[in-house]
Amino acid sequence: MPTDQKNQTARPKPVALFISDLHLQAEMPATTAAFLSFLKQHARYAQQLYLLGDIFEYWAGDDDIASPFVQRIVRALKGVSDAGVELFWIAGNRDFLVGKEFAAATKATILADPHILDYAGQRYLISHGDQLCTDDLAYQQFRAQVRQPEWQAVFLARPLEERKAMIANMRLQSKLHQQQATVITDVNQQAVDQFFTDHQAHILIHGHTHRPALHRKKGTCRYVLSDWDQDLNQDRNQQSAPLRGDWIALLADGRLQRYSYAGMPTED
Ligand code: MN
Repeated sequence: MPTDQKNQTARPKPVALFISDLHLQAEMPATTAAFLSFLKQHARYAQQLYLLGDIFEYWAGDDDIASPFVQRIVRALKGVSDAGVELFWIAGNRDFLVGKEFAAATKATILADPHILDYAGQRYLISHGDQLCTDDLAYQQFRAQVRQPEWQAVFLARPLEERKAMIANMRLQSKLHQQQATVITDVNQQAVDQFFTDHQAHILIHGHTHRPALHRKKGTCRYVLSDWDQDLNQDRNQQSAPLRGDWIALLADGRLQRYSYAGMPTED
């Protein structure tokens, strides 16, 4: 068998890859390198790539797109689009200000949260997941405020440097007021049940909680993506093991398969 044919047999083209919570930032070079390697070695060979939120640690506005760090990511994502992969974006609680300019530069389509992906007669519900964490009332109030177009317009009207300084200050304050690393509130089971009912689905893929797992309950499957950390930064959330990062693939037969950052299939 010729080599290229053999390789194709070894790696059938996945329908879609799902990834979230990379929290990309210049201060985490190993995580950034791992993401760029994921794009080159795996995402390029899928039909679709879904970025499910908190891909960036923060996003001050699309006018920050020219900064060298952001440019590296944007160029790599555009490379994936140019290779023929359809790129989709769902906002996280960190990078919800990503807008039209970023979408145009990467050729990504911004989706509403949640989004339903129909494949082979199956409905796959995909979401960042933060709206399911209804026990964190303060966060849900914050979310309701900052997702308003009016609030965003006022914030984005400030000069970029001022916005960046405000974000840096918020991050510093939250670090100073935490004895330990932030613990993200987990999803509320009632909110999850309602989500499945509202969207007439029984498969959900989401991130946000940094608690990678597959939860099977009452005929539903909830796949939780991990966050990524290849830098072992002690300031970050350490709920899962260090050196982590995974993604989930929707395979041609409709199965969902989790892979480790190293590209190895892992069991849920
Ligand atoms: Mn999040």
